[in-house]
Amino acid sequence: MGNTSIKTTCCIVGGGPAGMMLGFLLARAGLAVTVLEKHADFLRDFRGDVVHPSTLELIHELGLIDEFLKLPHEKLDHLTGRIGAENVTIADFSHLPTRCKFLALMPQWDFLNFLASNGKRYPGFDLRMRTEATDLIEEDGRIVGLRAKSPEGELEIRAELVVGCDGRHSTVRKRAGLQVEDIGAPIDVLWFRISRRPDDATDMFGHIEAGKMMVMLDRGDYWQCAYVIPKGGIDRVKANGLPAFRDAVVEMTSFFRNRIDEIKDWDDVKLLTVAVDRLTCWHRPGLICIGDAAHAMSPVGGVGINLAVQDAVAVANTLAGPLKAGQVTSDLLDAVQQRRDFPMRAIQRIQVVVQNMLLAPALSSAQRPTPPFPVKLMQWFPALRRIPARVIGIGFRPEHIRTPEAA
Ligand SMILES: Cc1cc2nc3c(=O)[nH]c(=O)nc-3n(C[C@H](O)[C@H](O)[C@H](O)COP(=O)(O)OP(=O)(O)OC[C@H]3O[C@@H](n4cnc5c(N)ncnc54)[C@H](O)[C@@H]3O)c2cc1C
Repeated sequence: MGNTSIKTTCCIVGGGPAGMMLGFLLARAGLAVTVLEKHADFLRDFRGDVVHPSTLELIHELGLIDEFLKLPHEKLDHLTGRIGAENVTIADFSHLPTRCKFLALMPQWDFLNFLASNGKRYPGFDLRMRTEATDLIEEDGRIVGLRAKSPEGELEIRAELVVGCDGRHSTVRKRAGLQVEDIGAPIDVLWFRISRRPDDATDMFGHIEAGKMMVMLDRGDYWQCAYVIPKGGIDRVKANGLPAFRDAVVEMTSFFRNRIDEIKDWDDVKLLTVAVDRLTCWHRPGLICIGDAAHAMSPVGGVGINLAVQDAVAVANTLAGPLKAGQVTSDLLDAVQQRRDFPMRAIQRIQVVVQNMLLAPALSSAQRPTPPFPVKLMQWFPALRRIPARVIGIGFRPEHIRTPEAA
């Protein structure tokens, strides 16, 4: 164990979708980039599993789509659900102006491993697992690097630019003293698995009932389930007991009845706290935050990964050249924020409206819910389903790869 000091051009904290995509793009552009990930692998359970058409489009632009689509995944070209007694379709991706007109449901660790293995093809890519950023190094008002702990001991990393991609509980944004605007979320999520059998219905995605809501992600041999509860409601759920929780799950998805005992105890059910917030300013001289570190996203619509990836592309497009030239100015960092601010705010606004107008009332109501008017309209006029498909699948102001691959 000892103290080691290294120098790099860009140090990225966090190996989630934002950090891995940015690390890959900068290394591909010929830069020296160090990515720190505090965990030993990407095998954490509580990650969204959706790779959106816009992200698939970026992978296509990178010339990697055929290789990517060889990884096991499920294709979802429309989103269906059940609100009270009615089955509804709320998005149809089959008309999107993208090469892949579907959501790819793929365990996020496969997506991150794919980016890591492609990053490793470039000499500048330095991914350090089990390495946790603990503090920033500031000199004359500029962030010039950071301190981290790794299995080998303390690490000091000097860099032209530090990028905080360390998610909603970001250490980087805390240490940088960036101001957070908390928008709040009225929900939390209980996350658990139930095995999947060949004759299970495959088109069910979400179900809302009086006082209950559940989303199910098809992970091939099991269902990843997200049972939504009111914020802070975990104590009440536990006080009611595990049998009552199991019954509630079966009421939402009756074909779980013959295997609900797979939830053996509360250790099988993880609480994921939902946050919606954003930084008022994403940057300081020598540092910028992106992805959830700059704007924590609600799981509503499953678009957080998309935004994180789009942020990464915007950083690479704006800063790869200046980083090479050693000329990353505050104006350029601000240009990234200005570019990404509107798409992020627009999506957060939609998420907050859905949380407050649909989810929270359904969770607190004893009355069986009925589809809200816009959802009813989509059943009468199916072409309207293309609108949510566009918002979820592409978002606003989509990014494209502008960084050339270094010779
Ligand atoms: C319950 C729930 C379900 C969701 N489902 C979906 C979904 O289905 N689809 C979707 O698109 N979005 C979903 N989201 C949102 C999505 O998870 C996030 O928006 C997205 O993961 C943000 O990506 P990121 O790279 O910015 O951060 P993260 O994915 O949070 O990655 C941050 C990484 O940084 C690492 N890290 C943290 N601190 C340090 C440190 N100090 N040093 C080194 N490494 C560090 C972490 O281990 C992690 O790997 C969901 C969110 C919640 C809460």
